[in-house]
Amino acid sequence: MENNELWQSVLAQMQFHISKANFATWFQNTEIIEKNNDHVVISVPNAFSKEWLSNKYNKLILKTIRDLDNNIKDLEFIIKPQATKQVSKPLPENERIETEQLKFEEFKANKETNLNPRYTFDNFVVGSFNELAHAAALAVSENPGMTYNPFFIYGGVGLGKTHLIQAIGNKVADNPKKKKVKYISSEKFVSSIVSAIRSNNMETFKASLAPIDLLIIDDIQFIAGKNKSQEEFFHVFNSLYEKNKQIILSSDRPPNAIPELEDRLRSRFEGGMIADVSLPDYETRLVILKTKMQEKNVELPDDILDYIATNVKKNIRELEGALNRLLIFNKINNSTPNIETAKKLLKGFVSSPFDVANYKKIIEAVSKFYNLEEKSLFDPTRRKEIVKPRQVAMFFMRRELKYSFPAIARKFGGKDHTTAIYAYKKILQESEENNKLTDELNLIKQRIYSG
Ligand code: ADP
Ligand code: MG
Repeated sequence: MENNELWQSVLAQMQFHISKANFATWFQNTEIIEKNNDHVVISVPNAFSKEWLSNKYNKLILKTIRDLDNNIKDLEFIIKPQATKQVSKPLPENERIETEQLKFEEFKANKETNLNPRYTFDNFVVGSFNELAHAAALAVSENPGMTYNPFFIYGGVGLGKTHLIQAIGNKVADNPKKKKVKYISSEKFVSSIVSAIRSNNMETFKASLAPIDLLIIDDIQFIAGKNKSQEEFFHVFNSLYEKNKQIILSSDRPPNAIPELEDRLRSRFEGGMIADVSLPDYETRLVILKTKMQEKNVELPDDILDYIATNVKKNIRELEGALNRLLIFNKINNSTPNIETAKKLLKGFVSSPFDVANYKKIIEAVSKFYNLEEKSLFDPTRRKEIVKPRQVAMFFMRRELKYSFPAIARKFGGKDHTTAIYAYKKILQESEENNKLTDELNLIKQRIYSG
């Protein structure tokens, strides 16, 4: 088999194993440039591709290529830079705007479905942090109503929940089967219910939802504590569910951690598939940056990308924000910033060494998570709703701040230090046995560190 043909077949196979976005990032502009006996040399456009392909994908590529030609024993990746884009000099002020190099594509939500077409599976990067959620979402999109119903996805802010659930919606809506899809934020949902009740139009509101095949409600945690809305939603949920219509929900936490959620709704939410998204690691952050640059058709030097991927860790939204910050600079000055300028521009995005946990952040994160006022944590009460959050706060003060037990006890109104020891041990032990608590602790920890 001729080199080019061989490589094209390998690439075709690889696409089955990794997502489109990952594929485009790492395999674009690669080719076999040499093949002698059992050794194949593959050229890649830059050091990142080289590192990624030789560390992460070497085995898979080798296996794939050996299926086609089993004489091959090893692979070598060498960097062969592409003809780089000429960076032009800054233009005179008055010409700058017209000669925009960047196309920031504008997308508008579809009037009927409320879906934003920019959220697709194709531009969704998959890594270990969101693998399960992605796989489940794909399954749902292929067989709405029949696989996982409801599909419930949860995780911290800016980690791709909206993107993923809209990707399902877009895929289903684009299908020739012409299923009726509706995306609604939970604020919008609640306010529609409230105004329907007020104007005595509940039946009309329900009738408008009846023909929907796939209902997506984003950030469902906002329904907590809103009893009338919960009641109406319960009926909407049941009538869709009984007709095998797909229901998709997102939330910042799992159903069992949403306070003031009716039990009957909670058990409905738990009746299908629950998947979480967490934080991407360095490599995945890099893939995400590269994907976004491809979308926007721009380039930045590797040292800057490395700097962003290393330092902007909070979430994917921030990662995009950091990238956009540089692209705007690029657009205005018509030149790529150097690494020093980039560092200055990105100050606001980079977690500084001071961005660490502290007492105040722990109290704030814990009380917010459990929907309590901060001062309640210090109430001298044995009520379960307070005791557990207080123990969690003590646990974090010990684990994240290394406070001594007497110091923790002092913070909580001079309790005996054995109370703090007991709290720490109890939470530690319970979290080892109880996944729900482990999930909660992870979510709270994310909040402590992301402010
Ligand atoms: P959430 O709903 O969890 O707060 P979003 O879905 O709004 O987060 O994601 C924030 C931004 O990050 C969006 O612009 C989205 O396109 C992008 N994003 C999130 N996850 C991914 C991913 N896995 N691949 C590519 N882009 C992502
Ligand atoms: Mg969202």
